Amino acid sequence: MIIPKSKEEIELMRESALVVSKTLGMLAEEVKPGVTTLYLDKLAEDFIRSEGAIPGFLGLYDFPNTLCISPNEQVVHGIPTTKPLKEGDIISIDCGAIKNDFYGDHAYTFAVGEIDPDTEKLLRITKESLYAGIKEFKLGNRVGDVGYAIQKYVEPHGYGVVRELVGHGLGRKMHEDPEMPNYGKRGRGKKFVEGMVVAIEPMINMGTQKIRQHSDGWTITTLDKKPSAHFEHNVAIVDGKPELLSTFKYIYEALGIESDEEEPFRKEPLVV
Ligand code: MG
Ligand code: MG
Repeated sequence: MIIPKSKEEIELMRESALVVSKTLGMLAEEVKPGVTTLYLDKLAEDFIRSEGAIPGFLGLYDFPNTLCISPNEQVVHGIPTTKPLKEGDIISIDCGAIKNDFYGDHAYTFAVGEIDPDTEKLLRITKESLYAGIKEFKLGNRVGDVGYAIQKYVEPHGYGVVRELVGHGLGRKMHEDPEMPNYGKRGRGKKFVEGMVVAIEPMINMGTQKIRQHSDGWTITTLDKKPSAHFEHNVAIVDGKPELLSTFKYIYEALGIESDEEEPFRKEPLVV
């Protein structure tokens, strides 16, 4: 059952989304060769608590940490470790937080130093596909329209869309209805309604769409060990249109990147 949110609830969810957005922005300055993912995890936990929020993943389904950090061929759900990052790695950082009883859930794939052009392209196309999906999250459309747009955006590049893992409704629970696959058929699936909030999160592999789950019960890697990218935004339907609750602007500010990619999905420009 889809649980639409009132205007007031959406404002509260914007706060939760801002906590995870700021957390990823803080981490953007810390991602570099030599740093361990466990160190990043500790920084994130302290930061989230300093914002008056609670780490959303810690303990959820018994997950042991604050962040899911998935390097290179890991798709999602990677557990932070003491292994240092090295030049040329990529890491997908997924961050959840609870504020005012509502979840924020946000992810970005970072480059560690210089990365090769093929991997850079995978990151760019995956992020662009996120916005192609968000564009279709509007009144009159259905779940399949978002998945179709993402799939159509990435597959011409030879990339694989992970099937087993999907986006989701978001609210007082981390995973609410509906499931939001990154593949699909136009006009199929549940109908979008005013006030609904979802996490749209393409998980895109450079090679095969096939994945493997590790014996730790969490880590998921690509079957062919090629890299995988993951970008996630929280989006509400407001006045029939998609409105972003999360933002990559803190990341871009930290990395010195200029971008207006979020402007079509915001009523007023966000001041960071
Ligand atoms: Mg997430
Ligand atoms: Mg999610």
